[in-house]
Amino acid sequence: MANWSFFADWHTHTCYSDGKGSIAANARAGQVRSLQQVAITDHAPASLGVGLKQPEVTLQQMRTEIEAWNKTEVTPQLLLGAETNIISQQGDLDLPKRLLKDLDVVIASLHPLVKPLTLKDGVSMLLPNLVQRYTPLRSRKLRNINTKAMVEAVYRYPIDFVAHPGLWIDIDTLELANACVRRGTALEINCRHTDILAGYVQAAMPTGVDFVISSDAHEPSLVGDLDAGLELARRLQLPLERIRNLMKG
Ligand SMILES: [Zn+2]
Ligand SMILES: [Zn+2]
Repeated sequence: MANWSFFADWHTHTCYSDGKGSIAANARAGQVRSLQQVAITDHAPASLGVGLKQPEVTLQQMRTEIEAWNKTEVTPQLLLGAETNIISQQGDLDLPKRLLKDLDVVIASLHPLVKPLTLKDGVSMLLPNLVQRYTPLRSRKLRNINTKAMVEAVYRYPIDFVAHPGLWIDIDTLELANACVRRGTALEINCRHTDILAGYVQAAMPTGVDFVISSDAHEPSLVGDLDAGLELARRLQLPLERIRNLMKG
């Protein structure tokens, strides 16, 4: 059997949002795991209580720290990214395109606990998702709203991958995956939630969509901790060449 190894972890958090470590601490952790790249992808502004404040200024500050590390030419190379939030039914993200274009990695997530673009988006999409998370109720209407918001985001923005699709959010995975194939966007296998996400990976597989396995580390020791995702991919017989941060040998 061919040997596969991860060269990158493109989804990690630091104390710029709700992570516990610094950018340099994530970098050192990536070095311990022999990664070539680590992306710093803190929560964008709409995440309640934890999102980047004054993103224009903060992202610049983060870029300066990242460049200082990269100048040392010690691996891993650091990338600057953000975990953006889908904040409206039309797929609006909580960072403007002019800031997104300066990022190396753009992740999009549909989290229920975020500040919506309008009151209507809060009432028709985010709040019902929050309620659904804690009840067995399912509504076709909400599923359609969620799917449309994610698909619109994929078409409107340069998104590298959609984080944990389907995590506590009811969506039509096939429809999202088809949009991702058309746009060259990948779907994430999030190592913090491999137990819940198997069904979504399975549903997306027949479309031929690519995947990214990430740690979503909120503390440095978990940066590059990607084995659970690989185990899931193997169990579901996902062809490993479709995982973008994995390489042969
Ligand atoms: Zn997330
Ligand atoms: Zn995250």
